[in-house]
Amino acid sequence: MIKLSNLRIPVTARKAGPPSSERDLMAYLSGLLEIPPSAVRRVSILRRSVDARRKNDVCFVYTLAAEIDGEEELLKVRTGKQTSPGAAGFTLERYAPPAPYVFPYRLGPGGPARAPVVVGMGPAGLFAALCLARAGLRPILLERGRPVEERVRDVDRFWQSGLLDERSNVQFGEGGAGTFSDGKLTTGIHDERIGFVFKTLVDFGAPEDILYLHKPHMGTDRLRGVVANMRRELLRLGCDIRFESRLNGLHFENSRLIRAAVDAAGGGYELEVSHMILAPGNSARDTFEMLSKAGVHLSAKPFSVGVRIEHRQRDIDLVQYGRAATLGTLPASDYKLAVHLAGGRSVYTFCVCPGGSVIAAASEAGHAVTNGMSAYARDGENCNGGLLVSVTPADYPGSPTAGVAFQRALEKAAFEHGGGNYYAPAQTVGDFLAKRPSTKGGSVRPSYKPGVTWTNLWEVLPAFVCQALSEALPEMGRRVRGFDAPDAVLTAVETRSSSPIRIDREKFQAVGHEGLFPCGEGAGYAGGITSAAVDGIRAAEALCASMGLERVL
Ligand SMILES: Cc1cc2nc3c(=O)[nH]c(=O)nc-3n(C[C@H](O)[C@H](O)[C@H](O)COP(=O)(O)OP(=O)(O)OC[C@H]3O[C@@H](n4cnc5c(N)ncnc54)[C@H](O)[C@@H]3O)c2cc1C
Repeated sequence: MIKLSNLRIPVTARKAGPPSSERDLMAYLSGLLEIPPSAVRRVSILRRSVDARRKNDVCFVYTLAAEIDGEEELLKVRTGKQTSPGAAGFTLERYAPPAPYVFPYRLGPGGPARAPVVVGMGPAGLFAALCLARAGLRPILLERGRPVEERVRDVDRFWQSGLLDERSNVQFGEGGAGTFSDGKLTTGIHDERIGFVFKTLVDFGAPEDILYLHKPHMGTDRLRGVVANMRRELLRLGCDIRFESRLNGLHFENSRLIRAAVDAAGGGYELEVSHMILAPGNSARDTFEMLSKAGVHLSAKPFSVGVRIEHRQRDIDLVQYGRAATLGTLPASDYKLAVHLAGGRSVYTFCVCPGGSVIAAASEAGHAVTNGMSAYARDGENCNGGLLVSVTPADYPGSPTAGVAFQRALEKAAFEHGGGNYYAPAQTVGDFLAKRPSTKGGSVRPSYKPGVTWTNLWEVLPAFVCQALSEALPEMGRRVRGFDAPDAVLTAVETRSSSPIRIDREKFQAVGHEGLFPCGEGAGYAGGITSAAVDGIRAAEALCASMGLERVL
């Protein structure tokens, strides 16, 4: 096979949008390599991105893999960077696809006495359970929330009427915290399991373009179907899935896990268990307390707090793409900004949701929490992103769970300033920078439901957070013009971007507690859907090794 990288196709050359069908790509390659169309046997996209650094030359940039007739002859004469007129810039080389990741354990004869337990059906728990089930185990899955279909109704009711269900909400329920999200799959980690995660998501219904887009995303609409399909497969493989079942106690004997207590809809019970994957996510505050009481080692961890910022999508597109934005063939644009302030704090944008909405993401009564979500089409009026200030344990001294108390205080203040009815406090950027209360919005209509209460965020958030935001916003506005536009809307408070604690582990087991495998974002080892899924798989590998399953690879 051959690989062609850095193939630049100007957006102005493609009225119908970027080529993506194999037929289109075959025609394109035959023209580019000056070979007959019939000589191109197969083409696939390895990667596609948009290069908008030069606004008068915005391009789709492709890396393609292809099988063509006469490959060896072509490689002999054209390997390397192409310089001939008309084909300058791209690189041609030999290509061997990497071997796909395969879960390396299988259940041998005379399987384990007890089924392992997986706590949490977010990406970490779901991928861990899937790998265990495919290895031949039949794990019990405990999920405190409800199946995704019911959960969608519970969350919609909350957004429409402000009736929060503490058992089933944006943080809790099948699919985990990212179910009501943009379904962004970008990650900072490098791991051979990422390809497996993406392929598995596609097998369960995610859009195929996540396999090659530089910034892959599924959208909340596609993600919900994926989660339901994963559940069907887990059931087919013999998993015992228990919804509305909250882990609320752990018992160890000589540091070995022996029993778990479960608080279930029909009444509490105990479960004998020797191996447990614990993937509770970053909002399982009662679970952190329970772990602390059970003697599991927890550490305080830095995290971030702040607001959601909202702009009109078309304004961001114009800044990011220039006139090419009006062609209608480019994806809704995003941004990524970070400012490091004197004194050591950072202010950065996080989890940008192009064409999306700001959502109410509380899981506790009397708290207001913001986050963001988009559909796959990303075709909403606004673009929103987290605008966060880094905080460290020095900001919330005390026990390892003091970060949770810090988050709660902010969320309660936001709830009260919002009016005590799950409306969120909001302010325009212009008023925020002038430190005067907002009484109404401008051209950017806040998308947050059930609604916003215009106020002065300097009275809601700690002074150091407001100070940091007010220093960073003008600098961010210099990098992305209009980012600090007076009409942009700030909605508070964003507290759940990562976990405030870490469950200390050694070789994937909780320090000093055999049989307990904490993983995912809540345990402090992942940040986002992809890395949580990867961490879940790695925890499943460690659990299988510890159970003595046969290593087949
Ligand atoms: C609104 C929103 C949007 C987001 N957008 C993105 C995005 O676009 N891209 C991205 O990469 N990340 C996004 N994230 C972050 C992402 O969702 C998390 O990083 C990821 O879900 C973490 O996976 P996890 O499996 O570790 O935990 P979670 O997904 O939080 O799953 C934990 C699960 O455990 C359950 N649970 C908790 N405690 C217990 C217990 N005691 N007993 C039984 N069950 C329990 C919870 O109900 C939950 O279902 C978003 C998060 C939110 C809230």
